[in-house]
Amino acid sequence: MFCTATADKKAARTKANHNRTQKPESEGRIGRLHRTLGNQSVLRMIGAPPAAHKDAPDGGPGTGTGTTTAAGGGAAGGKTVDVYGINLPGATRTVYDDVATANTIWGKCGVTIKVVGGESWNTDVLDQLAPQNSLNEYSSMSSPTAEETAMLAHQPPVDAIAVYNVPAMSNNSRGENFRPSKNPSVPKAVVVSDSAVADTFAHELGHILLDVSEHHSDPDNLMAAGSIRNVGVDKLDATQCAKL
Ligand SMILES: [Zn+2]
Repeated sequence: MFCTATADKKAARTKANHNRTQKPESEGRIGRLHRTLGNQSVLRMIGAPPAAHKDAPDGGPGTGTGTTTAAGGGAAGGKTVDVYGINLPGATRTVYDDVATANTIWGKCGVTIKVVGGESWNTDVLDQLAPQNSLNEYSSMSSPTAEETAMLAHQPPVDAIAVYNVPAMSNNSRGENFRPSKNPSVPKAVVVSDSAVADTFAHELGHILLDVSEHHSDPDNLMAAGSIRNVGVDKLDATQCAKL
C-alpha cells in the first residue's frame, strides 16, 4: 500500500502529497511502478541470507520440500501485505528475519509480505500484570488482557499490520494473532514471542490472511497447530491459496 520501505510519518505525508498532485491515470502507472520497485528492493533486502543465530532452539527452518518459490512469481495478481515491526523491551527477534521466512512460505500463494517500517517501543506495558517482562495473553480473542489492550492501542504510524515482538508470553505461547472479524474492538495484529520457531510469524499471519481460527490436520501444513506442525515443511494447499 505504501511505496517506501521505511515508512514514517514524513513518508506518509509525502505520499499523500504525491497522490494529491498526480493525475489519476499517471498516478496509477506511477503507483504500480512504485509498488513494483518497492517490492523488488524489499525482496533484495530480505533476500540476503538471514542471520543464522535466529534459528529457534526447538526446531530450525529446515530445508523442507515446500520452499520452492517457483510459483511465487505471482507478480501478476499477487497480493502484498504491509507489516510494521514493534519491538517491546527485552524482545530479541526482528521482523526482517521472520518476514524473510514468511515470504518463502507465502510466496507459494503469490503473496509478498513487505516491512514498511519498525520501531523499538520503550514501554512498561508488559509490567502491568504479573509476571513482568511477559505479555499476559488471552485465552479467548474476544477478551484480551489489559496488557494486550494497552499494547494494541500502540499502532503503527502507517497503514500496516502491527507485528509485536515480545520477550515472552504468560502461557508460553510462541505467538498469537488478533482479528477484527473475531473481535471488532481489536485491530489486525500479530504477536511473536522470543520462543517462536521459524514459521511462527508466517503461521500467525496465516490466521489473519485466511481469517481462520481452526488448525489444519496435516502436520506438514503451515496452518497445523504448533504442537504437531513440522516446522520447515510449511505447505499451503490450493484451497488455502484460493482464499486469498
Ligand atoms: Zn494457530
